[in-house]
Amino acid sequence: MRTALTYDDVLLVPQYSEIRSRTEVNLTSNLDSKRTLNLPIISSPMDTVTESDMAYHMWDHGALGIIHRYNSIKEQASQVAELTQSLGVDSIIAAAVGITGDFFERAQALVKNGASVICLDVAHGHHILMQEALISLKMQFNSDVHVMAGNVATKKGFNDLADWGADSVRCNIGGGSICSTRIQTGHGLPGLQTIMDCAESDRDAKIIADGGLRTSGDIVKALAAGADFVMLGSLLAGTDEAPGETIDTSKGIKKKYRGMASKDAQMVWRGRFSSDEGISTLIDSKGSVDTILSGLRKGIVSGLSYSGARTIHELQSKADWVRQSGAGLRESYTHILLR
Ligand code: IMP
Repeated sequence: MRTALTYDDVLLVPQYSEIRSRTEVNLTSNLDSKRTLNLPIISSPMDTVTESDMAYHMWDHGALGIIHRYNSIKEQASQVAELTQSLGVDSIIAAAVGITGDFFERAQALVKNGASVICLDVAHGHHILMQEALISLKMQFNSDVHVMAGNVATKKGFNDLADWGADSVRCNIGGGSICSTRIQTGHGLPGLQTIMDCAESDRDAKIIADGGLRTSGDIVKALAAGADFVMLGSLLAGTDEAPGETIDTSKGIKKKYRGMASKDAQMVWRGRFSSDEGISTLIDSKGSVDTILSGLRKGIVSGLSYSGARTIHELQSKADWVRQSGAGLRESYTHILLR
């Protein structure tokens, strides 16, 4: 049986650097030949993370927000239309659909209203229904529409989704902060391992490291391991731009953050629940997402500079990894707080 690693198991070894200024570091990443992001961050299509306000601010930072699908076609399409007015035709507007039921009609409505990235958003994407959905959407839309799909945990899953037409693939199963899939089902793979495995693929599809990223350090590790982009839920939830009201509690101002497979979310969006594979919780209200994104950008730029890398591609080719021990991990945290 092989050992699978995740973010806390490893560190990147600092390297000689000739980077004199942070302005020399370039974080651009191509989604495809027509679309580039200046910051390789994508916000999760979850109903406590991304609606039009979050997507607007993500774009403002050179990042991308995926409008979630847990509402009526009309509601989701009108959020896409609202963005198309406010962001302009040169922007990238992204929205999610499922792979059964009204997904095809939904995708058509989203594209008609200005979306050019459609995300096929399901928990277990390495599936015959995904194959059928991908093939039908790729036949419907030409290359003007970028099709993102997921999630997968393996290189085989990544290759299959790419072969079925996915332009980018969300990688990681069971690693999200609100996810209980591994507990509930016994399935999954430590998140960084999935990225390292998928990075060995010879397919052109882009790798999105999705879930389990808690810090800019985790993001740097995901990019160094081969991810083209990271997808964030908890790091962006709780901000002013995330959907949902603030709640005044005895422990401070909070906002709700919930897994889309939690009982709480399923009861709201489909009136019943099947397998309960996520939790719903309150997290601290964090203020503007602008501050969070600026902080993440600074951390990522610093990360590249510690590897002496000016681009994400250079980071990937230079990355020098070590496994750390439990004592090493304790030392890595600001350990005065543990004393
Ligand atoms: P986070 O950034 O660690 O909070 O993880 C966010 C990611 O968790 C999302 O992008 C999804 O891939 C995943 N996710 C969202 N809802 C659920 C759920 O209910 N169960 C399992 N995974 C989920």
